[in-house]
Amino acid sequence: PNQSSPHVSVPLRAAVAALPAYVPGARPSGRAWKLSSNENPFPPPAAVVSAITEAAGEVNRYPDMFATELVEALATHVGVAPEQIVVGNGSVSVLQHVLEAVVEPGDKVVFPWRSFEAYPIVTAVAGGTPVTVPVTADGRLDLPAMAAAVGPRTRAVLVCTPNNPTGPVVHAGELEEFLASLPGDVLVVVDEAYLEFVRDPEAPDGMDVLGRHANVVLVRTLSKASGLAGLRVGYAVAAPRLAAGIRSASTPFGVNHLAQRAALATLQAPVQAELAEHVEALVGERTRVHDALRAQGWDVPATHANFVWLATRERTGELAAQAAAAGVLVRPFADEGMRVSIGEVAANDAFLELAAGWR
Ligand code: PMP
Repeated sequence: PNQSSPHVSVPLRAAVAALPAYVPGARPSGRAWKLSSNENPFPPPAAVVSAITEAAGEVNRYPDMFATELVEALATHVGVAPEQIVVGNGSVSVLQHVLEAVVEPGDKVVFPWRSFEAYPIVTAVAGGTPVTVPVTADGRLDLPAMAAAVGPRTRAVLVCTPNNPTGPVVHAGELEEFLASLPGDVLVVVDEAYLEFVRDPEAPDGMDVLGRHANVVLVRTLSKASGLAGLRVGYAVAAPRLAAGIRSASTPFGVNHLAQRAALATLQAPVQAELAEHVEALVGERTRVHDALRAQGWDVPATHANFVWLATRERTGELAAQAAAAGVLVRPFADEGMRVSIGEVAANDAFLELAAGWR
């Protein structure tokens, strides 16, 4: 801090002052495999890079405020009306706006824990009170316990499937039962950040769920399977009236021009085909890493995302530091375990070699 800066007497909101810092994935210094942020290790397809390069010369102008073309393309992509799509600066910002659209001060927001670290933060910033429900020993969401945690002040429930950082998905039947048990005025956000990596036939079809429950909002991202993490594009799919509310709560010009053009290029059929090949390769690597870890004797939860969860418990800090020293960056959660992204084949090999040595 600057020693000469004057004393600040402006109080922060108590909920904001109490927030834990958002811990970013480690940044590699020098040569290291970055398996800490669930990124796509494949660089974007050439057509996407060209779209960004072409758009670069136009950034003296504001972007399309409503991202009209992108919203239309996403609507076609998922098979809904454009009125049902809201885009934002990454799905974390979409999540923030979803909660800001519905949460009144003191309302409760129920979510699983451990789950995506942004949930307590976006809840508190929206003025809500977090109610956390532990995941099961095998890393699955405990939907009956989450339903039991819903009370008269509950305004929203967050369902993360696949769950970050543990990996399992909820099943269609249990989600249906869960939704049927909730009052219709409780918003249910289904966070499908890792949707494209799911290979469980019992996983719910988000669009089908949305069609049957008007209180559901799907949140999706182009950061993971689509490989645009650095440009920040996420979106919500919701009933038109809810979507309009989320849009009202959103930051104007929330998706920048380069991001809009890149996302549009990403949705073109040939690029989708190329991305689908990358996803298939990553799913193959996921199976290989998961099976190898189990063969080493680790109790790894079933994963349908682009990461695995290793329950390293009280050794987590020490082992994550060892991994970093060996050039493999993972995401440690102190005394619980580490989340390790599926990356390049050589990166996965480097991690598997470390994990074998830790048994
Ligand atoms: N939801 C989940 C479950 C995530 O794991 C992440 C990224 N770590 C996000 C949302 C946010 O992704 P983005 O803001 O890049 O769209």
